[in-house]
Amino acid sequence: MSFARIAASALAVRVSSSATASARHPSLRAVAPASRFTKPTQTLARSVTTMAAAGDEKTAAIEAHLKGMANSGEATIFDKIIAKEIPSDIIYEDNLCLAFRDIAPQAKTHFLVIPKIRSGLTQLSKAEEGHKELLGHLLYTAQKVAKQEKLDQGFRVVINDGVEGCQSVYHLHIHVVGGQQLSWPPGC
Ligand code: AMP
Repeated sequence: MSFARIAASALAVRVSSSATASARHPSLRAVAPASRFTKPTQTLARSVTTMAAAGDEKTAAIEAHLKGMANSGEATIFDKIIAKEIPSDIIYEDNLCLAFRDIAPQAKTHFLVIPKIRSGLTQLSKAEEGHKELLGHLLYTAQKVAKQEKLDQGFRVVINDGVEGCQSVYHLHIHVVGGQQLSWPPGC
């Protein structure tokens, strides 16, 4: 399946689940008006996914929260990426982690660094003593891949945690964004 088609079908799933979730969760009505997602989807996959992601991350985070993803132990989309069951743009891999480009980039360069084995690390706040080495490795890898991506002028590292942190995928991941001038503070 082409990247464009995957992106379009992912958007379609998100649109319908957003409608269901907004019926159940009042705050979703404010962040995900249906009309926002009723535009034609024949545009390039990249712009479609970026448009969806711009206002939809909050919706996705609330949906994941409502589904109890934080504590369900359920596999996530990242397990499929690790198993190479779905296509992804992998830019780095070693025995402990994987880095791949975010499907809905929020900057010119946007990739994720994830552990290959989640081992309870659904989110940063679940970290335990035994995770310290892995966490260090993930952070070290983030800067290593940033260099590989030629982010010589700087970059930003973000870990979203939990519903209020706007986390939508419950498999710990480090966002690395850059390749352009960023602003601060981020959206609050
Ligand atoms: P967060 O909202 O911090 O949980 O981030 C999850 C990130 O995963 C979002 O930036 C999504 O765009 C990204 N994402 C979700 N599915 C995929 C995928 N199949 N390939 C690449 N990135 C993805």
